[in-house]
Parts: sequence; C-alpha cells; structure tokens
Amino acid sequence: MIKLQELEKDVKYVKGVGPNRVQLLNKLGIYTLKDLITYYPREYEDRGKTIKIYKLEDETESLIEAITISNVIEIHTKKRNMTMYKLTVKDDTGICNIIWYNKSYLKTIFKIGHRYNFYGKVKIKNGNIEMIEPTFDINGQNNNTGKIIPLYPLTWNLSQNTIRKIIKNGLDSIEDKLIETLPDYILKENNLCDINYAIKKIHFPEDFNEFKIARNRLVFEELLKMQLLLLSLKSNATEINGIQFSNKIKINDIVDKLPFKLTNAQNRVLKEIEQNMESTKTMNRLLQGDVGSGKTIVSILAAYKAVKTGYQVAVMAPTSILATQHLESFENILSEYGIRCKLLIGNTTAKNKQIILDELKEGKIDIIIGTHTLIEEKVQFKNLGFIVTDEQHRFGVKQRNILSEKGNNPDVLVMSATPIPRTLALILYGDLDISIIDELPPNRKKIETYAVTKQLEDRINIFIKKHIDEGRQAYIVCPLVEENEDIKAEAVMSIIDKYKNDIFKDYKVEYIYGKMKQKEKDGIMENFKNGKIDILISTTVIEVGVNVPNASIMVIESAQRFGLATLHQLRGRVGRGEYKSYCILKYEGNSELIRKRMKVMTSTTDGFLISEKDLELRGAGDFFGTKQHGLPDFKIANLFEDITILKKVQAIATKIINEDKFLEEEKNEKLKKMCEQKILL
Ligand code: ADP
Ligand code: MG
Repeated sequence: MIKLQELEKDVKYVKGVGPNRVQLLNKLGIYTLKDLITYYPREYEDRGKTIKIYKLEDETESLIEAITISNVIEIHTKKRNMTMYKLTVKDDTGICNIIWYNKSYLKTIFKIGHRYNFYGKVKIKNGNIEMIEPTFDINGQNNNTGKIIPLYPLTWNLSQNTIRKIIKNGLDSIEDKLIETLPDYILKENNLCDINYAIKKIHFPEDFNEFKIARNRLVFEELLKMQLLLLSLKSNATEINGIQFSNKIKINDIVDKLPFKLTNAQNRVLKEIEQNMESTKTMNRLLQGDVGSGKTIVSILAAYKAVKTGYQVAVMAPTSILATQHLESFENILSEYGIRCKLLIGNTTAKNKQIILDELKEGKIDIIIGTHTLIEEKVQFKNLGFIVTDEQHRFGVKQRNILSEKGNNPDVLVMSATPIPRTLALILYGDLDISIIDELPPNRKKIETYAVTKQLEDRINIFIKKHIDEGRQAYIVCPLVEENEDIKAEAVMSIIDKYKNDIFKDYKVEYIYGKMKQKEKDGIMENFKNGKIDILISTTVIEVGVNVPNASIMVIESAQRFGLATLHQLRGRVGRGEYKSYCILKYEGNSELIRKRMKVMTSTTDGFLISEKDLELRGAGDFFGTKQHGLPDFKIANLFEDITILKKVQAIATKIINEDKFLEEEKNEKLKKMCEQKILL
C-alpha cells in the first residue's frame, strides 16, 4: 500500500517532469504527486469513433482513419512567420488535406501509404475537405486518438499531450496502491467503486460508463467530506454556553396586539426561535422567507423577548434606507412597551452619534438599528444579547462574527429573502439552523406577470402611462451588471435618455445605479417613496427590500439576462400595497431556454419553486454568481449536476454524525481522517 508521504512527494520526481515543467505545473497549483493525480480533467473528448471522409461535416471535431498519399509539403504563406504544412490523405470514400502551421518536425514523420488516425477540426470550402491542426496516431496506437481523451484546464505552453503523459506517469508510479479513503460500509451501501479505480478512470476512462462510475465516487467523497465538516462545525457551535432568555416572557403575550394575525408559518418559526432562545444553546439561525413573507415582524417579536429579559439587541441592515425602514417597523410595534430603539447609520451626525454610542454603552438604548457602522470598534454595548442581520448575503460571516463578539455569545438571527432550495441552504449555511417562512400573509395582492417581446413595447408604455395617471408608480429595471458597468453603461444611458426625454417626458423620471454615492441613492429612493418620482429607472440596486406600496408596475428590460432568482427578487418590489400589480418581463431572443425561463416566471410566484427551477435551468455556478456566497470551491462536484448525490450524502452525513458525533467509532476512522485533512485522498 502506498503511504501518504509518497503522495506528498514533489512532482519533480514524476517521470517526464524536468525543471521547466515543474514550474509550469506549479503554476497550475500542482506541487506534489497527490496534486497531480487529483488534477481532474475539465472535460473529455470522445475520439472513439472514426468516420468516413465523405461524411465529415464543416466545423466539427472528428476522427478519421486514412492513408497518406503525399509527403508533407511546406508552403510559405503570405503572413510572415507562418509556414503551412500540408499532407494529403484518403480513405475509401474521399480525400482530405491535413493542415498544420509552423510544425516543421512533422515533415519527417509521415510515410506515404501508411495508415494514421487524425483527430481535429474539419473545414469544408467549395467541396475541399480540410482538417486543421489535428492530433494523430500511427494506426493501431491510441495515445492521442481512438478513445476518450481527457482535457485539462491548462496554462499556455503546457500542452494537453504533455500533461496527459505526466499524469499517466504519475498514476503508473502508484500502481493502484492507494489506500482506500472511504470506510468499507460506505462503499458497499452506496455502491461506490474503490479509490484506485476512481482515480485511474477519472483520467483515462475506456468509455463513458467507467467515467460515470469514477466520477460518482469522487463527487460522493467530496460532498460527504464537506457535509461532515459542516455538521461537526454546527454541533460544536451549539456546545458553547449561550444566553438563556427568560421563559416567563412569552412572545405570545404581545402577538394579540399586532394589527394582523400571524400566518401559520410565522407562528411555527417563532416557536423554533423561542425554544432556541430559552435553551442554553447559542442560537445561530437562518430565517428564510420570500420577500414580503413577514420576516421583519418575526425578528421584532424575538427582539421583544430579548429586551424584556434584560438584553440589548442589534439589527444590521445592508443600506441606510432599509435600516431606517426597520427602525419605523420596530418602533411601531415596540415603543408601547417602553422599548427604546435608535438608528445608527453613515450619515448620523457626529454629535448624535456620540450620544448614541454613550447611551448604548450605558444600556439606555435597547435596540440599535443600523448599517455596517454597527461593527465599528467604537460601537460598544452594555449587554448585547441578540443580533439580527437582514439580507444576509450582503454581509459576510466575518462581519456577523465581529458583531457577535461585542456581546457574550449573543443569539443570532440571520434573515435572508433569497429563497434557495433547502439542500443548498444546508450547504451555504451549514453552520446555521434554518427556519423557513413558506407562506405569504393572506392579504397579499397577486402580481400578474407577462413576458413580452419588443413588438409590444408601445402597448406596454401606454399601459404604464395609464397607471401613473391613476396615481401609481413604476420601476424600470435595466440589466446593468455592476462588474461590467463600462460595457453596458452606454446601453443603459440610452434607455434612460429614451424614457426620460422622449417616451415619458411628461412624467417625473429618475434613475439610480449602484456606483452612485450612497447619499444620492438614499435621496432618490426617498423621493420615490414619497411619490415625488413617477418612474424609477434602475439597475438591480432596488433588489434590496425598500417598501414602496404605491409602486404597482415593474418593467424589466432584457429580462433574459437575469437569473430567475434575481427576477423574483425584483418582482417582489411591487405588490406591496393595496393595488393590483404587474411585472412585465421584456425579453430578447427566442431560444428554448429563454422561453422556459420566462414561463417559470409567468406561471408561479413561489420563490422556492423558482429557485429550484433556476438551479435546474442555469446550474449552480450561475445561480450563485461569484464566490460572494462563500460557497466552497469544489474540485469535482458540481452542485447543479450533482444535486441527487448531494441529497443522498446529506442524509448519510446527518446519520453518521447523529450516531457518532466525533467520528470515534472504529468503522468511521477513515472519515475522521478525511475530515482532518485539507484535501481529498
Ligand atoms: P419581509 O421582511 O419578509 O420581506 P416584512 O416583514 O417586511 O416582509 O412584511 C411585509 C409587510 O407585510 C409588512 O408591511 C408587514 O407589516 C406585513 N405583514 C407581516 N406579517 C403579516 C401577516 N401575518 N398578516 C398581514 N400582514 C403582515
Ligand atoms: Mg425584509
């Protein structure tokens, strides 16, 4: 059996790796033999089937088996530095010219009348069949052609052929002697192949079935490891002694005084939260619910319990305007119980700020609501016991922790309006318990959604005018992606210009975008809220939950460019008041995928369903955008493709941790080891 130390051997000892190649491999993050053999292919090319020359199609990658009928001819092209090498080959159906550039060594390789395999891109011009820069094998061999070939993510000047050979050498040096990394019972129960087979076949499968078997095992292992780590993180966290909030002060005591009846879902999550608060465990809970599902009131009621038990509460929102909105909501409900709420945001004056900081430290403020200013060092509490962060994805785990450290193991409630499928929530927030509000308050107006193409533009504009004339307001959202601002800014500016100075010139039109100064943005939002603006043109900055009940129309330009989750978030900006509301998705393009996605939006308003569909139609990578969500970086697993495995692994990991929390049983020894190591194997 091969020892771990041997896998840690420098990659330079692998056959075929000289000093030059070491550097190239290092650039790819490959330092050891282990790195090398776990450098998985990016994709595979099926070079398994030859086709006849007369069947070749333009612009396809194909494999032919053919006999040379000429020598390699050198042709000087008009472009300097470009020498073309041409070889003519035939099979029993036709003739094909093989073309390479600047590869003089090829001149001596081919012999007339011999049979070779060529795999490459086909070009057909005026009946002339060419294959450009193919890889090849002497017939009968299949080093580069004639089977499934792995393709690796590479830097320039390291060729696929080279890395393939090096990896092959690395694997050969191991001789199938890797020690199994998963316990026997896991392999058996889940029908997984052993580690040696998996590693070998992930690189060099004979057919796609072998590839599937190998990949399945490696994905399983990677996801299992992640799940075990997350679950053990969570069970560690709950060990810490947390605050026990009074079981004499019940949330129910004030529920009857609310201006509405709580939904069943709200009652259920409140019970979960209250139980958690009363226990000695520190609460780390994610409260998920669609926009408008009533998360805020839940946090207000929990805050009531915390304050009445004698603790201070901090509420952190991503923007000033949201913080201000929260202050209103909290005061509305809580001031009659003598609870003192204060706002601390970026433009709080220095004088005011100092007063607030002093009062906070003296314990004269019960609930402080603010933006990330709350995590500044100067902000100190007398006894912070409960934290609410709204719209979680705008804050990192770090910021959450900084705030937590201002108290003594305070309970934390994280609110997120991004509905994500539960399985994924478990990954993203594996260290948190999850409560879900999956029901909207009964008084909600349905939002009618239409997906339209450009032809209907005029009618849409008339429709908007009619509603504004009746006193409503509208949002128009453009797909200005913040990272690409330069590229698309022009397009957006012209849309703004068209709306502002032409189509809606008789109305008050404003626009707002991400890179504006926060103050400016807040000012515009304030004006829109107060009805001083009829139409607000914007980027997705309005995604975050500002409440403008009078806005009843949302138009989304180039809707096909947004993810469904984003469209759903945006749509949640309307339908917040007593008026019937509309969401109009203008889209371009006519692909099956676009139509399917539009269909999802027009047929349901259930955020969780939409997020499932989004995942299905786009893939997890797109769904989560960048790494801002803190999603782990997988070596082989893909959360979209592997959702079934993930679900399975989730259940298995939970069972394992429930039965053997610290992985101390003998049968779990390998799992324990796996969790102690950073990288697989
Ligand atoms: P979220 O934060 O989940 O987006 P909010 O808490 O802001 O949603 O609630 C949206 C609106 O619905 C608020 O005006 C709130 O007062 C109201 N609301 C909350 N719960 C209920 C309920 N059970 N019945 C009626 N209205 C509710
Ligand atoms: Mg909210």
